[in-house]
Amino acid sequence: MAKQKNRRRKATATLPKNPRPPAGLDADVFIQAGHENTPDNKTGGEGPLGNEIDWTPIVADEATRILRQAGVSTIREDASLKRPERQNERFRVRIAVFLHFDDPDGGETGASVGFKGSSDEPAATAWKKLYSKFFPFPFMRDNFTPDEAGYYGFKFTVTTDAEFLIEFGDLGSLRQARWMKPRLKWMGELLAHFLSQRISKGNVPLPDFPTDVTDPHSDSEEELHDLHVVPRSLPKRLPDYAAQKLSAVAGVPWEKAAAMPQYNVYKGIMPDSFCVFQNLNGMPLSDVVSAVIYETKFAIDSDGSSDASDPDHQNKTSLRHADGSSLDARTESFGVIPLDRAEAAAEGLQKLAGVPDFGGIGLRLGDIGIAFWKNASAVFVLWRQRTAKRSGRRLDQNGGPSRHRFRSTQRWF
Ligand SMILES: [Zn+2]
Repeated sequence: MAKQKNRRRKATATLPKNPRPPAGLDADVFIQAGHENTPDNKTGGEGPLGNEIDWTPIVADEATRILRQAGVSTIREDASLKRPERQNERFRVRIAVFLHFDDPDGGETGASVGFKGSSDEPAATAWKKLYSKFFPFPFMRDNFTPDEAGYYGFKFTVTTDAEFLIEFGDLGSLRQARWMKPRLKWMGELLAHFLSQRISKGNVPLPDFPTDVTDPHSDSEEELHDLHVVPRSLPKRLPDYAAQKLSAVAGVPWEKAAAMPQYNVYKGIMPDSFCVFQNLNGMPLSDVVSAVIYETKFAIDSDGSSDASDPDHQNKTSLRHADGSSLDARTESFGVIPLDRAEAAAEGLQKLAGVPDFGGIGLRLGDIGIAFWKNASAVFVLWRQRTAKRSGRRLDQNGGPSRHRFRSTQRWF
């Protein structure tokens, strides 16, 4: 107990003095570091690179420091809220966040948000939108665990905007832990920016995204491969000219690539070739800041306005010309991405469980890609695979009806 008190005093001593709260409130913002100083045995997740109980205070302190310096009154709390003598305490604030990292018992999860009421959802969604611009791993559905919706901390805050719980990611997953650990303070900066924007006070700027982070592990090829972490280059199975064009030397920012092994479940994708690049700058279109690259089996197709003998031929494409006519495979290069779960459902089809959506990482109709195959390359535009309107059919791992193979070129975009 004495030890806990010391730790707490030390942490708060380094924080700036809290600005005066607005009239009628105890503070603008409330931030709880999950598990810190917990009076029970719920000490949180323990991962290969660190433990939740040590990580949440780092994020919470950084956010609190920045907000207070910006004139935003901020209450910084911990899990001592659980103590019997604290049960009647209430904090009147504009917005409250409760910080956690997930550590599931089985399998890998990702980031998520949790909240109790629908009035909390807009703020939680806004956070998710911001964080997912940077977080290169899956976001789980809201209130993904029962603990999230029924979180003990929610009763302590009375808010004018919202109170919600943030899971920053799965620290039991080595690849996620490796991405998160060097970015804990940045998470605090991003959170401070978000909260400041949300309450329109303090004007905390969007922090720079740290790309040159110190790698907590060795750079040995073998170890990186085992860990499914940031690849340094493409696998060695491409034609030489393509490998050269896509090399770090040629300017492809591999330090920003995150491996997405969850896409390995798609048939025809070369295992571990799927990577997402985030926070790119100097792209041809200024508002495009991400890209994906992957390697797949090569198949060609003539869907669209051209006639064809293909029994699965579809004469309409979801992406259209300005006059409403379908694309023509004879004159226009277009590539296919599988339907997302919701799109499949809208056509009466069911996508297999556990198969991730391409839309989830930002791929959209009309995105531009470049394909490499043998000694040729072609620029193309993306359209969604449109499936026959027959209900009750299950989609295979390609997102299409079972006998319809994933149609794609070997491509990267
Ligand atoms: Zn937790």
